[in-house]
Amino acid sequence: MTPQDRRDFLRTMPLAELHRHFDGSIRPATLWELSKKYYSAVPDLDFEAFRHYLEWDDTLDKSLIDYLDKFHVPLQYTQFYDSIMRIAYEIAEDAYADGVRVLELRINPLIHRRAGLTTRQVLHATRKGLVSFTEKHPDFRSGIIVIAMRSHGGNMAKILLREILGEKEEYHSQVGVIGFDIAGPEAPFPPLLFRGAYELAGHMGLNKTVHAGESEGPERIWEALDNLGPARIGHGTSAGQDPELLKRLASEGVVLEVCLSSNLQTGAVADLREHPLPRFLDAGIKVAMCTDNPTVSATSLSREYELAMDLFGFNETDMLALARSSCEGTFLGGGCLCYEDLKTPESGVNR
Ligand SMILES: [Zn+2]
Repeated sequence: MTPQDRRDFLRTMPLAELHRHFDGSIRPATLWELSKKYYSAVPDLDFEAFRHYLEWDDTLDKSLIDYLDKFHVPLQYTQFYDSIMRIAYEIAEDAYADGVRVLELRINPLIHRRAGLTTRQVLHATRKGLVSFTEKHPDFRSGIIVIAMRSHGGNMAKILLREILGEKEEYHSQVGVIGFDIAGPEAPFPPLLFRGAYELAGHMGLNKTVHAGESEGPERIWEALDNLGPARIGHGTSAGQDPELLKRLASEGVVLEVCLSSNLQTGAVADLREHPLPRFLDAGIKVAMCTDNPTVSATSLSREYELAMDLFGFNETDMLALARSSCEGTFLGGGCLCYEDLKTPESGVNR
């Protein structure tokens, strides 16, 4: 199969994106426009130099610090209702153009409140942007996952949850909050700190996912499973080191949200050929291919599928099985209907 054949094939599959961050998915052109209109966060640059502050560049960027640096400039422009609404719309538009028909967009509302917006206003603006796109494209569905920062601690996570009760999907006719997540530095903030918050999320009827095992070892994933009861794990990369954990993830049907490019850039894996994705599939774990941050990682969801084909020799049957597995893992109400018109591969993942 030529690279073009692969791309043509991938274009035929409706994709579900379960792990995409709002602030890592903003169009550079939009931030450029906002920087010209309101405030230049990095003055005296042309667009290409400005883009470097936003997108990963293999020739220049090497470390987790380089990766995290990409989030500073966008925050200068995401403190305002209209910007958030526009950005949410454009994220949906970009995802749709890439073949995504189910989008779970995750956002940490607290980092967009510096100009005085409330948590609910941040989420309202996000919903409004997603709703206005969905109204034009009825074959597109989306929902919001709210992120609490690990570094803010467990009580702040509970306060955040109480604030967002009214933004839940069931209280709105279209887009709403469907899930809860924690993100940020893993080492100093173990899952145990968030047990109360995840209990509350469960009482509120929210679906649960957890960033775990990205920069830390498999013990963090065990702890997340034991203390937080998530249906999905964000990344879970270090699970590849622990055969017992792989068995548990498979037997409990926990979905791993796998983000290849991001894992390489942040150093979760040193070489993508060593990525545990094939081990996850061999162990019978449900995997959702995701982007994490398409702008920061300079990727797209279809590109991540293409990467998996290049790296691991997956064929079309494998890709269709992976796309279906993503869709089945969605938190969106009503489940996933993406594949009813597509031929189902007989053999599942062909490995
Ligand atoms: Zn993430």
